[in-house]
Amino acid sequence: MTGYSVLSGGTVVSSTTTVRGDVLVKDGKIAAVGEFGDLPLDGVERVDVGGMLLVPGGVDVHTHIDSPMMGTVTADDFESATIAAAVGGTTTVVDFAMQPKGNGLLESLEAHHAKARGKAVVDYGFHMCITDLYPGAVGEFGEIVQSGVSSFKVFMAYRGTLMLDDGQMFDVLRQARHTGGQVCVHAENGDVIDRLAADLVAAGKTGPEYHEVARPPSTEVEAVRRAIRIARMADAPLYFVHLSTEGAVEAVAEAQSRDWAIAGETCTHYLTLGREFYDRPGFEPAKVVLTPPLRTQEHRDALWRGLRAGSLGVVSSDHCPFCLEEKRRLGEHDFRLVPNGGPGVEHRMLVLYGEGVARGRISLTKFVDLTATTPARQFGLTGKGQLAPGFDADIVVLDPQGSTTISAATQRQRMDYTPYEGWTVPGAVKAVYSRGELICRDGVFVGSAGRGRFVERAAL
Ligand SMILES: [Zn+2]
Repeated sequence: MTGYSVLSGGTVVSSTTTVRGDVLVKDGKIAAVGEFGDLPLDGVERVDVGGMLLVPGGVDVHTHIDSPMMGTVTADDFESATIAAAVGGTTTVVDFAMQPKGNGLLESLEAHHAKARGKAVVDYGFHMCITDLYPGAVGEFGEIVQSGVSSFKVFMAYRGTLMLDDGQMFDVLRQARHTGGQVCVHAENGDVIDRLAADLVAAGKTGPEYHEVARPPSTEVEAVRRAIRIARMADAPLYFVHLSTEGAVEAVAEAQSRDWAIAGETCTHYLTLGREFYDRPGFEPAKVVLTPPLRTQEHRDALWRGLRAGSLGVVSSDHCPFCLEEKRRLGEHDFRLVPNGGPGVEHRMLVLYGEGVARGRISLTKFVDLTATTPARQFGLTGKGQLAPGFDADIVVLDPQGSTTISAATQRQRMDYTPYEGWTVPGAVKAVYSRGELICRDGVFVGSAGRGRFVERAAL
């Protein structure tokens, strides 16, 4: 779209209000939001969106695209993952740039840039994932933040491959604060989990269903509480990725009540899928060998409460796709070797709309807040996450009367399964605009590879 265009007659949803109105777009940005449907706007392209909801394009701040992990590489590259994101109504992803052990941070970041360039179809940013805090590594933080990568990720689990110890995490937190960066943490007590997992395998319990048994809720809660204390020692803000338990929500809420800069996200699957998945026969449970594991209803209820209360501010996908065949190849005889992760970037918006808004668990404005506005604000995406003048015209036209059936046979994620197989959820993505350009129409991707831009994110 060049010049002016107007989406007219829809319902414009923000994180605080729902109003009937039109959205005027010029040169890829939102020029105005209001009621100008009847004004004689010469030369303006009009798109009738009567009966539709207009929501900000989704911002998914937790994806692992084309990423080396657990002896393999995630199944989607930047083209397939971002096409999947786009058809599902997500127009920005912030992906984890993994540091392979032995490689420098800056060179790892550059390698990830190269993977996205020419392929991404929606805008993207990166978090810098730190797995090896070699001498001098923290000295590179300033340059990384200045390059628009204003967040770092550390793991408290997976000793020997990804995990940092408490002292290293303290170091990362302290230096991140000095450079205006934010730290994201995967909080699980890795050493206890490794012990529990070794005991299970020694007892002959090697199937994928034991993944969950090895990672009880207490291993998350302990790590969350410890990480909060370490962040306080470093006087640094901290963001928890993929929280799954009631105890974690409570710990985060308690920290926030003291006015500490602690933030938390949960993911679509922790809200909508239960641990019963691990009771399925054969190798089926491997589909949800992801970390942390799925939990009981009690925890899911607490996560929804945390979203409503505001202690959890973001719902991400943790899109970390490994095909079932690949999981079987690596981990058929030992659940510890099943690559941890599952697909999700394509269905985050609609599953949360269906299970959240349509079922009355969250409001429409809360849905926008959790999927776009707060993730954009939390991670310094200053032009994203709102339908307001000056913001990028990343717009999803959502049909609340429609419905969408999810299946591996029709999804765009490069995967041989989806944990939501056969689900029909209320709501349908009718059209998706990225910087004013129509990139999806009625579920069909109509954009082009390489049109997505790297977005430099603001420092704290
Ligand atoms: Zn992840």
